[in-house]
Amino acid sequence: MNVLDSELVVAALRRQGWQMAQSPADADAVFYNTCSVRQHAEDKVYSALGRVRAEKAKRPELVVGVLGCMAQKDQELVRKRAPWVDLVVGPGQLHRVPSLIDGVLAGSGPQIEVSLDRAAGSRESVARSFESYDPDRDPEMRPTPFQAFIRTQTGCDKFCAFCVVPRVRGPEQARPPAAILAEAKKLVDEGCREITLIGQTVNSYRWTEGGRTTRLADLLVGLDAIDGLDRIRFVTNYPRDMTDELIHAVRDLPKVCHYLHVPAQHGSDDVLKRMKRGYTIGEYLEMHGRLMEAIPHAAVTSDFIVGFCGETDDEFQLMLDLVQKLQFKNSFIFKYSPRPGTKAFQRQPDDVPEDVKKARHRLLLDAQTEASLAGNLPLVGSRQQVLVEGLSRRDEKRAAAGEAEAETADGTVQLSGRTMCDRIVVFDAPRRLIGRIVDVDILAAGPWAVSGALPLAGGEPSQLAAEPEVHTISLLPVSRGNGATEPTAADQPQAGHAHHA
Ligand code: SAH
Repeated sequence: MNVLDSELVVAALRRQGWQMAQSPADADAVFYNTCSVRQHAEDKVYSALGRVRAEKAKRPELVVGVLGCMAQKDQELVRKRAPWVDLVVGPGQLHRVPSLIDGVLAGSGPQIEVSLDRAAGSRESVARSFESYDPDRDPEMRPTPFQAFIRTQTGCDKFCAFCVVPRVRGPEQARPPAAILAEAKKLVDEGCREITLIGQTVNSYRWTEGGRTTRLADLLVGLDAIDGLDRIRFVTNYPRDMTDELIHAVRDLPKVCHYLHVPAQHGSDDVLKRMKRGYTIGEYLEMHGRLMEAIPHAAVTSDFIVGFCGETDDEFQLMLDLVQKLQFKNSFIFKYSPRPGTKAFQRQPDDVPEDVKKARHRLLLDAQTEASLAGNLPLVGSRQQVLVEGLSRRDEKRAAAGEAEAETADGTVQLSGRTMCDRIVVFDAPRRLIGRIVDVDILAAGPWAVSGALPLAGGEPSQLAAEPEVHTISLLPVSRGNGATEPTAADQPQAGHAHHA
């Protein structure tokens, strides 16, 4: 969500003539787009603000801004702890950034713009104060030009006891389906091949107009019909809103990735109740069962919080059991961080000692790492369709360190991409494959990624790369012609099939 917000703010600023600088020392303005989900994220921003202080002292005309959730949550506190900050702008007011900078530059002093607090007015007035900010996009600001996020909803109404998001991002508000589809078409015209729909609970999407209700499954149908788009993903899912209709849409629409992030958060019914998650483990298992029955090779991922208020050893064991039982593709595991303004902060003491949180975090991570490796191993020997995202981390680091890229005589580097099920694949190939969907033969697997090579059959890899059209290999009839993956085979071992169209 923050990556998208940053893209949009930068796009608006560029239209006003601003450009990206290489470092704060080269910049006329420095913005921190912040997160409030855990204390750690806020601490990092205060450290960064400390670092920019000297620069600001040297050059008082430097504009320093704090944007996003921390600005919304701690508007006064930010200015108190870092009085050198000129701009404090919440996530519902980001459209105001360009004019607020002008205000600072014109000498109007510090500018603070945030939305109404949820307790401060009617739902409508609060909702109106959180404006969705989705102006024209700027392809140059995306992490890659061929992948983009599109917002389906702003805000959240789930009010999990631990979570600050409903407070800082405001009430849930859906965007009209026509706006979402128009944005997708425009992005595809600009060269986007993969779109990820994002919402705090994206599968709760609902838009009613003229007596007709549009849900996420309908949005997926609309996106799937866009020519030139290859992959559709969506995050994050709320377990209770994982309807059969949605599952079947994921199963049946060829461009929709069989990758579903559905955070369970915990493995104990008692803890889930204290977290106010609104489901039991039995219900989560039922949902997971429906999902795996419909799409047996689907990659399901989760988030977990260890050390939530009152978590006992037995309760933690249930979470460990769940991770071992469901074998998620991967899980994001967090130590509980009390957030002012949440129900848990007000009513439940943060009573699990830090060292216990740490130990449980490690144990859960180990269990997940084992599951991730077990999930990747069956890919060895298979051929996967991979959207090539860029240099691998290894070669990216080398490039960043100024080392000559590890280009071999035939001009290959180590590239990284993803399968339809979101598995990371690294392989040596020419740099110009970035942004394409290519076949990769998987040769080895680790917990975080698998590695492989371009297929030899049908031509040497160098030959394959020299002929750009040849590697848009499709397992489908040529008439499909977009390199889309055969959906029922995605991420499944696919030994021995004919592969060159
Ligand atoms: N609505 C989105 C984003 C929530 S924040 C979603 O459901 O994914 C992302 C993850 O951070 C959550 O799933 C949760 O596991 C974790 N998280 C949220 N609040 C937290 C807190 N107070 N302490 C630790 N982890 C937290």
